Amino acid sequence: MARNEFDIIERYFAGQSPPGRGVVLGIGDDCALLEVPAGMQLAVSVDTVLAGVHFPEDTAAADVGYKGLAVNLSDLAAMGAEPAWFTLALTLPAPDPDWLAGFSAGLFELAARYGMALVGGDTTRGPLGLSIQVGGWVPAGQALRRSGARPGDAIYVTGSLGDAAAALALREHGPVPPTLRARLDRPTPRVREGLALRDFATACIDISDGLAADLGHILVRSGCGARIDLARLPRSPAFIAAAPALGRPDALVLSGGDDYELCFTAAPDCEPVLQERFAVLGCPLTRIGMIEAEPGLRGLDANGRTVDLDRAGYRHF
Ligand code: ADP
Ligand code: MG
Repeated sequence: MARNEFDIIERYFAGQSPPGRGVVLGIGDDCALLEVPAGMQLAVSVDTVLAGVHFPEDTAAADVGYKGLAVNLSDLAAMGAEPAWFTLALTLPAPDPDWLAGFSAGLFELAARYGMALVGGDTTRGPLGLSIQVGGWVPAGQALRRSGARPGDAIYVTGSLGDAAAALALREHGPVPPTLRARLDRPTPRVREGLALRDFATACIDISDGLAADLGHILVRSGCGARIDLARLPRSPAFIAAAPALGRPDALVLSGGDDYELCFTAAPDCEPVLQERFAVLGCPLTRIGMIEAEPGLRGLDANGRTVDLDRAGYRHF
């Protein structure tokens, strides 16, 4: 980008990174050199976040940095992988020092929490956006895949659903309650929960495009269907308080994107120990339904009627 590209990298990125694990050579050469501990597999994922598409243009720089890493950590969580390192490809309209300082602070606030090193990247000029690639480790053969759900398994979700979508909907009309706005700007990746789930989950996914769409991915990959109880879908106190101002709150809970909660399946007799483990982690856990042999996603509505829920989710195209 600019002549001072290397100053930017040193000041805001290389100089801020925690040392990380498995990093033989970090920022500064043509490639990073990374090691994976014996017996572990490397889990890799990349996600792009663009201004006006994945975050509102008025989002604070620190929140852009935080969210860019959080959505990627959520993918590691969904595989039951332990975060290790990340790379950053950043496109900026201009090298604004205030923006860069804020972005770097938000990014490394989250990176430091998980001891993740920034090991490389790319810096270019253009419309604001970034791609972060994450690497994590999972014991060989223990990753949580989408494909393992079986009829009779119980279906769970962590945390609450619809908060981020509610924040987006409310900002069209006026002020957004801070707890909802925080769920949009600073999603909580369920990393420790994902690690705990290695002992329990038969299938797992993170909810980025809405529960219906993402649970749908588990069903397709696992070759089965599901029935969920719509009244049981977890709603936060802030969401419930805001519900009268939301056109169709139930649709946001079912299909709103950007939750970054985990949806997973497990044998029903795991319930007591699962609840105990999640209580220790301080993460709400809700059983929402059952895996069935018949393909498709069905919901039980408040009147006890079964409704067809296929095709409810966020699509980019
Ligand atoms: P090259 O031209 O060989 O790809 P660059 O000159 O683009 O290398 O980058 C120099 C070093 O700085 C590389 O190690 C690269 O990974 C790192 N780097 C560039 N941009 C970033 C960034 N935004 N965050 C972290 N590291 C970066
Ligand atoms: Mg090079």
